[in-house]
Amino acid sequence: IVSIQDVHKSFGDLEVLKGVSLDVMKGEVICIIGPSGSGKSTLIRCVNALNDIQGGSIKVEGVEVSDPNLDKLALRKKVGMVFQQYNLFPHKTALENIMMAPLLVLKQSPEDVEAHARSLIRKVRLEGKENSYPGELSGGQQQRVAIARSLAMSPHVMLFDEVTAALDPETVKEVLVTIKDLAAEGMTCILVTHEMGFAREIADHIYFTDNGVIVEHGPPKTFFAKAKDPRTKEFLDQIL
Ligand code: ATP
Ligand code: MG
Repeated sequence: IVSIQDVHKSFGDLEVLKGVSLDVMKGEVICIIGPSGSGKSTLIRCVNALNDIQGGSIKVEGVEVSDPNLDKLALRKKVGMVFQQYNLFPHKTALENIMMAPLLVLKQSPEDVEAHARSLIRKVRLEGKENSYPGELSGGQQQRVAIARSLAMSPHVMLFDEVTAALDPETVKEVLVTIKDLAAEGMTCILVTHEMGFAREIADHIYFTDNGVIVEHGPPKTFFAKAKDPRTKEFLDQIL
């Protein structure tokens, strides 16, 4: 469903991605881990064309993302993204935040949009918080609204960039549970995460990036047990 081939990306003179390739099958969950500045966010931002690329190819359901004639809106309906900062609209309720994009972009009736939004509130386990404003919700609850908001467009792939990094330890878990539910339903997910236990539990495949290249990858079992590259080992030693 997502095919990344030999992608190169620079910001000015700084080459951040130096030939990255990875494939994600429909329904798969992949985790990207690696040190700060290794290009993880840059890579996933390329997948929904928030970053352009200077070389290589990225295809989402067969559509080349670096095509200058790309229909970005169509791409972003298919590829949902959730960031570390949830960026909810503070003057809109949870339900309104979730309904906003579909009302503006999808030509659906308000009744259908609202029914879908309410079902998403249940999916992220926030029943009762429909009419709460972001300021009245905990960080973890806000992040779950942000996930529901992204799901409201019925994406085929979800990108998660360190979505728990800004949360209190107690609320991290509820957000991870939401992602786990999604994965169990067959949503294709690409996650950048520092939660190694979670990655081990949920990922079909783990990629370790360092300095703009994928150093090592594999299914969690082999990845964690048999990391060979010294850079991977050093990283895992620090974190586990
Ligand atoms: P972290 O774990 O800290 O989030 P990361 O692996 O996500 O790190 P990136 O955000 O992808 O790292 O950044 C990779 C490199 O690209 C860094 O050196 C960063 O300074 C640089 N970079 C990222 N975005 C830009 C930008 N818009 N303009 C210039 N340089 C950038
Ligand atoms: Mg990042």
